[in-house]
Amino acid sequence: MTSETTQKFYYPSEEVVKNAAVSGMEAYKALVAEADKDYEGFWGKRAKELIDWQTPFTQVLDESNAPFFKWFADGKLNVSYNCLDRQVQKGLGDKVALIFEGDKGDIAKVTYSDLLTRVSKFANALKAQGVKKGDRVVIYLPMSIEGVVAMQACARIGATHSIVFGGFSAQSLADRINDAGAVLLITSDGQNRGGKALPLKSIADEALASGCPTITSVLVVKRTGAETAMVAGRDIWADEIVAQMSDVCEPEWVEAEHPLFLLYTSGSTGKPKGVQHSTGGYLLHAILTMQYTFDIKPDDVFWCTADIGWVTGHTYITYGPLACGATEIVFEGVPTYPDAGRFWKMIQDHKVSIFYTAPTAIRSLIKAADNTPAVHPKQYDLTSLRLLGSVGEPINPAAWEWYHENIGGGRCPIVDTFWQTETGGHMITPLPGATPLIPGSCTLPFPGIQAAVVDETGTEVPWGQGGILVVKRPWPSMIRNIWGDPERFVKSYYPADFQGKLYLAGDGAIRDKDTGYFTITGRIDDVLNVSGHRMGTMEIESALVAHEKVAEAAVVGRPDDLTGEAIVAFVVLKGARPTGDEAAKVLKELQNWVGQEIGPIAKPKDIRFGENLPKTRSGKIMRRLLRQLAKGEEITQDTSTLENPAILDQLKG
Ligand code: ATP
Ligand code: MG
Repeated sequence: MTSETTQKFYYPSEEVVKNAAVSGMEAYKALVAEADKDYEGFWGKRAKELIDWQTPFTQVLDESNAPFFKWFADGKLNVSYNCLDRQVQKGLGDKVALIFEGDKGDIAKVTYSDLLTRVSKFANALKAQGVKKGDRVVIYLPMSIEGVVAMQACARIGATHSIVFGGFSAQSLADRINDAGAVLLITSDGQNRGGKALPLKSIADEALASGCPTITSVLVVKRTGAETAMVAGRDIWADEIVAQMSDVCEPEWVEAEHPLFLLYTSGSTGKPKGVQHSTGGYLLHAILTMQYTFDIKPDDVFWCTADIGWVTGHTYITYGPLACGATEIVFEGVPTYPDAGRFWKMIQDHKVSIFYTAPTAIRSLIKAADNTPAVHPKQYDLTSLRLLGSVGEPINPAAWEWYHENIGGGRCPIVDTFWQTETGGHMITPLPGATPLIPGSCTLPFPGIQAAVVDETGTEVPWGQGGILVVKRPWPSMIRNIWGDPERFVKSYYPADFQGKLYLAGDGAIRDKDTGYFTITGRIDDVLNVSGHRMGTMEIESALVAHEKVAEAAVVGRPDDLTGEAIVAFVVLKGARPTGDEAAKVLKELQNWVGQEIGPIAKPKDIRFGENLPKTRSGKIMRRLLRQLAKGEEITQDTSTLENPAILDQLKG
């Protein structure tokens, strides 16, 4: 672990600072001051500049029905128009918008003009099926050009999409369709993942058979060519109907508050919530974060590895990059097929300049590179990279250092972006040409975002003291509602404990006592109390991951008669899973290591070894399940978003 305060920063190079959209810390501070001085002016000015409005707005923020805030409410716009038509009008029609790489390595490029045509035809096909403004459309597609096209087509006609990740079961799909009350489902015959063709339509059929009364038709995209049963009168091949459509589709101008999409959260902490997003405020933050955080430039090749089934894929694949006229990668496959060098090879082949991925992927690729030298990133030419990003979970300092050194060649800043499905875009993040970096810290709030760390009463705590992460003012891209459940919205995000005045993120955080930098310490229910000492799970996990043998770790508490709570660690080693005497030996070694790194109080009482940890389908560790395992209980919670149920058996005490 790094020690001296004088050495803790990684500074951007002079060249990075010089060329960045936000150039230097003074520029960052000026933006923060601008927003502090005139909050609505700050957002209003950017909304005018960055979005093409069909009807300009006259009011920036309407707080009259708080916490149901409205932004730019009397303005009208269309997101698809802002992503596609305006790029073509600016002369970018022949610029490549999407570089698609399939699981097997097949490549297709789509220009902005092509994309506009494809979206318009698809939008007309939706209309031909009777889909109207405000209707919900569920999209259950793999990572594909059609996935982006379908989302943009919904936006074009004012239909509200809700994407369900292609890895979800029939039951999860049916639950989401019914919660959203969707009229149409878009799916495909199948999907290619890791060298296998997996079914999709048959799962969708099972979901619909279980009872989805609101669905009237199903559009089926061809991908794998698998034999597919079609239900007469309900199912239609997308390519056949799209071929008959006109390639002109006038955008539907919608109010800024019109729901662009619903998206269900990962379910890391409980039952997934249908997060409702707006049109205008959401688009503004998507564009602004592309500019400030990713410093997007015309020549960049941008690659966000998230699936369109997650919010990251919405904001940083389907909307943000296209609204900025960027060229981006859309990848169908997985990071480990045909081998764990896939990401690095793709960066080399497509000369990717900005790469945005998740800590879970980094940790698994570190493990792979350590075990198999042939897939080590040093085997690839990664010199096209200029900026790296991380999202989804806290990134352990050890993984950060590896990413910085091995992928970024020591020269690329890493933007560790903290945000949530509910926030629509980045909330706390470095800006690459401004913020000196500290591994493991998401650093400082995005300009215009008023994040703070408070105690149980909502009072701000001093820097250096852990607490609850909140946002003090509403912001344009924030969640508008939990679909159909306004009460749960208020209770979850604007709880009475804070007089309904603070947005509760659900995460714990601590600000560095010298710099004020934020570090996320884990979910609020993940704070441990051992003999009266309060500790974030994240700190112990990072200490474990800093040990040379450890690939991944998750820490939870379990009730203990003596200490109130006892620490239980679940650990994945880089090598094979140890058993018997070997396990006992490593257990001792790791206990002593944590004792040395943090202090004896942080020593895990129990350590269990697995080949993996229970994760959501977006790759996040599901600590709530581990808490039950730590107590020796059977799992009784919602596991609909669990990726690898089999792993639970390995981790029982
Ligand atoms: P649910 O709300 O259903 O429990 P979830 O919170 O995992 O699911 P997401 O909205 O996908 O669903 O994830 C947001 C959460 O991910 C944040 O609240 C935070 O815990 C974590 N997170 C995301 N990015 C970062 C980051 N850069 N650093 C630390 N934590 C992060
Ligand atoms: Mg959450």
